[in-house]
Amino acid sequence: MIKGIPASKGIGIGKALVYKEAEDSNKFAGRKVTETEIENEISRFKAAHEATGKKLDETKIKASKVLEEKDLQLFEAYKMVLNDPILNDMVLANIKTQLLCVEASVLEAVGKIKAMFLAINNEYMKQRAEDVENVGNYILDALLGRERIDLSHLEEDTILIAKDLTPADTVGLDKKHIKGFAIEKGGETSHTAIVARTLEIPAVVGCGENIMNISSGDSLILDGETGIVIINPKATEFEEYSAKFLKHSTEAEEIKQLRDKSAETRDGIRVELVGNIAKPEEASSVLEKGGEGIGLFRTEFLYLDRSQLPTEEEQFQEYKKVAESMGGLPCIIRTMDIGGDKQMKSLHMPAEENPFLGYRAIRICLNEIEIFKTQLRAILRASVYGKLKIMFPMISGIEELREAKKILGEVKAELNEKNIPFDQSLKIGIMIEIPSAAMIADLLAKEVDFFSIGTNDLCQYTLAVDRMNEKVSYLYNPLHLGVLRLIRNIIEAGHQAGIKVGMCGEMAANIENAVILLGLGLDEFSMVPSSIPYVKRAIRNITFEKAKQIAENVMKMENTKQINDYVKERLYAD
Ligand code: PEP
Ligand code: MG
Repeated sequence: MIKGIPASKGIGIGKALVYKEAEDSNKFAGRKVTETEIENEISRFKAAHEATGKKLDETKIKASKVLEEKDLQLFEAYKMVLNDPILNDMVLANIKTQLLCVEASVLEAVGKIKAMFLAINNEYMKQRAEDVENVGNYILDALLGRERIDLSHLEEDTILIAKDLTPADTVGLDKKHIKGFAIEKGGETSHTAIVARTLEIPAVVGCGENIMNISSGDSLILDGETGIVIINPKATEFEEYSAKFLKHSTEAEEIKQLRDKSAETRDGIRVELVGNIAKPEEASSVLEKGGEGIGLFRTEFLYLDRSQLPTEEEQFQEYKKVAESMGGLPCIIRTMDIGGDKQMKSLHMPAEENPFLGYRAIRICLNEIEIFKTQLRAILRASVYGKLKIMFPMISGIEELREAKKILGEVKAELNEKNIPFDQSLKIGIMIEIPSAAMIADLLAKEVDFFSIGTNDLCQYTLAVDRMNEKVSYLYNPLHLGVLRLIRNIIEAGHQAGIKVGMCGEMAANIENAVILLGLGLDEFSMVPSSIPYVKRAIRNITFEKAKQIAENVMKMENTKQINDYVKERLYAD
């Protein structure tokens, strides 16, 4: 048995698939060989070329079971690129005249051909550039002996085991066949964990190195609530967990009945219960679970895992989809929050020592103004199809906020000039997720229409605990009094300025935490759709007076364990 950090509730029972990280070919860039090695490099290239051809044929046969004929044409396009003399001559010339090793030669040639295609600025050529990059990766796979696993097409009842999964990998998992995943790294509020909760995939993170000792084909039970992974379980364990699985499913069925009920306390105080999404298609699950709007659309997922930035039109279509599917309910669209654990290929951002403290979110937008303006234009244009609001992430001070608002003002003026319609009264808000912003919440509140507290980051910055690092995850606790005092300050400052204060950090999705937040006066609770019914039930089962009293007492306590125990006792004792 391996114990990790519980990241996404649910029991998974299935067979292990061990996903080994691909060796990073970029480390070969510019690597030289001696003249005596040239022949060997050339024969390695020829062998890799042949192997790639075979691999493409095999992959096409496998894909033909799930893809339509028109989608299979992609493999023909890849074969053409593979056999293109320009690519092959360039690689061979790099080896012979530049004395580059074969991996470096492929990287160099692919980079050059890609740049040539991208210089001709049209969609068709962009697609060709992507093809060349993909074929280059196939050749490098063959050279480095990398095994590819297509995460979007898995065998039935798969439990994925990996060192790490990126948020983009997780979004792309084969939802039908995956029964859970367990990874060596990560924390509870990493975006990989958040995506797993959104997609309702049971998950355990931060399992440590031992998880990689599991072999593909091992039988596994994974409990996303306790963070336990059992390898080749006994019959009694199967029985125990199958019963647990059934209990979860029954509770989920029962709680569905709350769907059309409001999030109102027993003494009539109503709050807003809304959902966090990363893709427009997830808006429907917010409604299914009884949410009354979107409190956070993480738009950066439109930018991840692709080599070109999404165009204004593409983004417009996505925001329009969200607006329309929510049928007039409020939807907060957060401008892109790239950086940290969400890296974007198309920006070619160099690796940073401390990515969460680095070039991220609004900082990128204020530097790459055209990228920012493109997104703002798309959101504004979509605003006529529903009730959209715009939210800026990672605001650390007043100047940054004013700069973002100024650029938004320019985009609005440009649209007005061209008579392009948008919601002129669209509300603007910010995330409060940096301690400096929490401390000056009174000043920031005068500049915006709403706040949304991002505790995932607020916690890591306040407590100096990397949200991704399993070694310090025991210190990551939103019930630390330091965090709670900041939250109280933000809510009070917001209310004094007459604006609503919500929370879209994961803290709001936990029942005990939600009761404290209710008592502190939070107006809007935003969370992964699957948590909505459980928090709704907790709010409907308590009076606001009692929640207020609990919060008041909590604010006088000294340590998180005392707070945790006290809230549990008050909630479940009577
Ligand atoms: C947060 O920081 O709490 C938040 C909601 O934003 P993200 O998790 O995307 O950083
Ligand atoms: Mg954040």
